[in-house]
Formats: sequence, C-alpha cells, structure tokens
Amino acid sequence: MRQLLEEIKARAQGLAEELAVLRREFHQHPELSHQEERTGEVVVAYLRDLGLTVTTGIAGHGVVGVLKGGRPGRAVAWRADMDALPIAEKVNLPWRSQVEGVMHACGHDFHLAIGLGAARLLSEFKDRLAGDYVFIFQPAEEGPPVGDSGAKGMVAAGVLDNPKVAAVCALHVAPNLDAGHIRYGPGVVMAGADRLILTVTGKSAHGATPHRGVDPILVTAQVLNQIQGFLAQQIDARSPKILTFGRIQGGNRFNILADEVTLEGSLRYLQDTVRQEVLNGLRRQFAGLTQATGAGIKLTVEPLFPMLKNDPELTGQAVQILQSLLGPKRLKLLHPAMGSEDFPYFAARAPGFYFFLGVRTPGGRAQALHSPDFNPDEAALPCGLTAAAGLLACLAEPELPSL
Ligand SMILES: [Zn+2]
Ligand SMILES: [Zn+2]
Repeated sequence: MRQLLEEIKARAQGLAEELAVLRREFHQHPELSHQEERTGEVVVAYLRDLGLTVTTGIAGHGVVGVLKGGRPGRAVAWRADMDALPIAEKVNLPWRSQVEGVMHACGHDFHLAIGLGAARLLSEFKDRLAGDYVFIFQPAEEGPPVGDSGAKGMVAAGVLDNPKVAAVCALHVAPNLDAGHIRYGPGVVMAGADRLILTVTGKSAHGATPHRGVDPILVTAQVLNQIQGFLAQQIDARSPKILTFGRIQGGNRFNILADEVTLEGSLRYLQDTVRQEVLNGLRRQFAGLTQATGAGIKLTVEPLFPMLKNDPELTGQAVQILQSLLGPKRLKLLHPAMGSEDFPYFAARAPGFYFFLGVRTPGGRAQALHSPDFNPDEAALPCGLTAAAGLLACLAEPELPSL
C-alpha cells in the first residue's frame, strides 16, 4: 500500500496543471445555488469520459459518479459542492468570473477540481484498488434563502445507500491556513445553526401620544440588549454560542408608532444542550418583556444545519493516512469553527470525515471566504488531490492497511 500511496502522490503532483485548468474553468463560470446546470454538465462530461457510471439530476443539478476498483473492498464517498455566491469579484486575474455579480468566493471551484481530479487519478489506478468510489457533486451548499440544502436532498435521494457507503469524506478550503496544510478535528468541527425569526407586535398610535399605543421599536431595542446580556451572563462562558441579527424591518412613517417589527437572525452553537438552554432562556426573557411592556414577542426557530461532527474512529484512521501521505508537520488539530455547512446530512447517514485545506500563499495576507477579494493559492490543489485520493484508496481497503 505504501508503494501505491507514493505513486498516487506523484501522480497528484503530475495533475497540478489539469487541476488549475479545471479550477479556472469553474471559476469563470460560477452559478448560484440550485442553478448549477452548466457546472453539472461539465462534471458529467468529465466523469463519463473517465468511464464512470454517472447519475444526473439528483436534488436539482447534483451528479454522482461511481468507480469500481479491481478488488473487493468497502464503498467510500467523496463530496464536492458546486455552487457560487452572489458577490461581484474584485480579483483581476485572467480567469476572473465572467458572470456579473456571481463569484466562486467560497472555493467550491477548488472542491470541484479536486473531486474531478480524484476521480481521474483513482480511475487510472483502478485495477490495483479495492472497493467502490462514489464521487458526489452536490448543488446548493450555501443554503437559504435559495431553497433547500443540496446535501439533504442528495442524502434523501439515496446517494450513500447503493452501494452502501462505509465512509464519506470532504474538504473545505481554509484561507487562514498556509497552502498545503491541513486542519482536522475528531469531534465537532463546525457549529450547528438555526435561523431565528422574531416578531414584536405592538399597538400603533400617533407619534405624539405613545402612551395610547405600544411601541414595538422601543421594545425591540430592549429585546436586543436583554438577549446579549442573557447570553453573556446566564450561559456558561465556556460554552460557545452566537446570536446575531442580520435583518430588521418595521414601521411606515416617522410620526406613527409601528405596529410590528420583525427580525431575522442566526443562532450558532457547538453543543445541543447549549442550543436548548439558549432557546429556553430566550423564551423566558421574552415572557418577562411581554409582561413589562405589553408587546407580543413571538419566536420562530427554523433549524438550518446540524453540527458537523467527525466520526472519531474514522478520523483516527484518516489522520494516520494523511500523516503518512503528507508528513505529520502539515497536519494540525483545529478549534471548532462557528461557521456551518450542510455536510452533516451526509455524516448522519455514514461515518463522516471533513477537514480543511489551507489555500493561503505562505507569507501572504490572510483572506476571508465569501469576500470579493478571495484569491486562493492554486499550489494547494495537488495537495488536496493527494489527500482526497490517498484517503479514499486506503479507506476502501477491506482492512485498514498498516502504514
Ligand atoms: Zn460558503
Ligand atoms: Zn463553502
């Protein structure tokens, strides 16, 4: 197996050029969530060309390609997401986005190139490989307001069931980590998230006679202060949680008290018990405020993504494989992030392993995902491919090979 991994590593380096070409092709033609028609077509053509068994149109524009190894083994899956964001690109490179106001600012162009590269590389080695390889190209990771999560739809469509997948893996680019380095965690690696909708109902009145009404804008100000005080001082400070509001709406005119204010926000957490504690506490706070002010306060909770938890046993195996492929110095343990992602739907169906691939130019400035300046270093692509292909080849063995 060691020999095979060395060859996989060398071939991944050899495919550096092809990975960059693929990545730039996707980068120039970004498509928003649930609109990944062209992207899906490029993926399908590439996978068919390799001779994989391809299924299209899953949960929208999702694509699955299955590769069979030459020996019996386990079925393993690799997931890449395909959607871009409504952001106007500021990076001025020859392969900049050709679609006005749409950009691959979350690195899913990298994910696509690495996913396709892994399908190419492993199909070149297929006679020597064990098991089955399921390459999942998922639409709509970026989530609402653009419809349902692509991962949820693909899992419901049974992409992990036939063949029955024993491990599902994925990576995400990380702009604050040097190119070619990897961060991983054995348990929770990303937060669970809910969308909260808060409706504060008052009673409209003339602006000159607020005592005849109930001012929901004033109550909203109290609500916001009280919430942050509650989170800061009544939840154990060692339990990470964030509640921010990104949208507020209410009122018609400067001299009329509004009758209603609505707010939309995002709650993030790293433990289910903390989520429950926060939601119960919010309801208690709102009941008190309702009594004090006479306003109605209604809280609606829409679960967005569960927490992303890596399977501990699979993580142990994966880290051993990655260390043997890349050397121990390039791997680091991560602190869980407060961002969220829809990979947990896959990880709920089969043991999952999700890790981060650094894409910062060493010595370069840190960048941010979802930013118009995001410009990941393509030198990370062959490393991502080595990790993906090496992981899958080892995990598909009937027994984990000694490395
Ligand atoms: Zn994103
Ligand atoms: Zn992303």
